Amino acid sequence: MNKLSTRQRTLAGEISFAGYGVHSAQPVTLVIGPAAPDKGFLIRRDLGNGTYTEPVSVHFSRVSRTTLCTTLDLGGSVSAATIEHVTSALSGMGVDNALITLDAAECPIMDGSAYPFAVAILEVGLETQPAPKKFLKILRSVTVRNNDAFAALEPYNGRALDLEIDFDSKVIGRQRMMFDWTPRRYFEDVSRARTFGFVRDAKILRQAGYALGSSLDNSITLHEDRILNPGGLRYEDEFVRHKLLDAIGDLSLGGLPIWGKFRSYKGGHALNAHVLSGLFSSDANYEIVGAEDLPLEFEAFDDQPAGLEVNHYLRSVR
Ligand SMILES: [Zn+2]
Repeated sequence: MNKLSTRQRTLAGEISFAGYGVHSAQPVTLVIGPAAPDKGFLIRRDLGNGTYTEPVSVHFSRVSRTTLCTTLDLGGSVSAATIEHVTSALSGMGVDNALITLDAAECPIMDGSAYPFAVAILEVGLETQPAPKKFLKILRSVTVRNNDAFAALEPYNGRALDLEIDFDSKVIGRQRMMFDWTPRRYFEDVSRARTFGFVRDAKILRQAGYALGSSLDNSITLHEDRILNPGGLRYEDEFVRHKLLDAIGDLSLGGLPIWGKFRSYKGGHALNAHVLSGLFSSDANYEIVGAEDLPLEFEAFDDQPAGLEVNHYLRSVR
């Protein structure tokens, strides 16, 4: 029961990123730092001159928009857009508690993936906290649909995602990924997958005020069955991997890591938010359990990318 893997984790220090929003093209500085046990992911806006908005939970009940990205309402007409790659990195790397601070209305897009955030988390290291880990255990299947698209949360003895996409594009087509979560697998197989878009949509999006900051530096760009990025793809099926990356980020808005299986077909930010609303619509759908109530053989949290355990060790002997 005293195993490190059953306890909550936060960042061992602050990490910061300077960049710009993929939709707004606004410059922004993002700082992610430690937070107390049982706080989950908190977010606040740096208003300048040493003033901040009150930190609020990164929670699906605060989702104000899901057009092309997930946007949160922080209260007092302050919002935070495109948070899903940041929350994906935190959740994917096994962080339970963190404080996110932004000085503009949209998170920096960086290279379009969660990799820069995941690397920084790896470098700063994680600190084990005294409180036991808690999970949102799925007790009853919840499915939400939109035409032939769906998203579902199902009871499952582990943490898994099974995601399928089907695009009318020869380059993408139909892709499926089944993923059993560990921090190492997230880092290696998911975190580097970039967001993507079609040249044919770019004009309309920009007229509507989206994708103003998108470029080949932060998006896989497709034009008539060709990939325009000179370096090509990072993974052969990078598209479905990015959708999985997004789903991990969006599902973290449930407030706790999910113990169960997420399945989706042609899903996206809207269905991801709706399936969480569906889950919380009845107390019979879920229960909050401590790590001690889960199978002891579950050691996914110990499957860390090389480097993390070293940091961890150094901190514990200091
Ligand atoms: Zn994304």
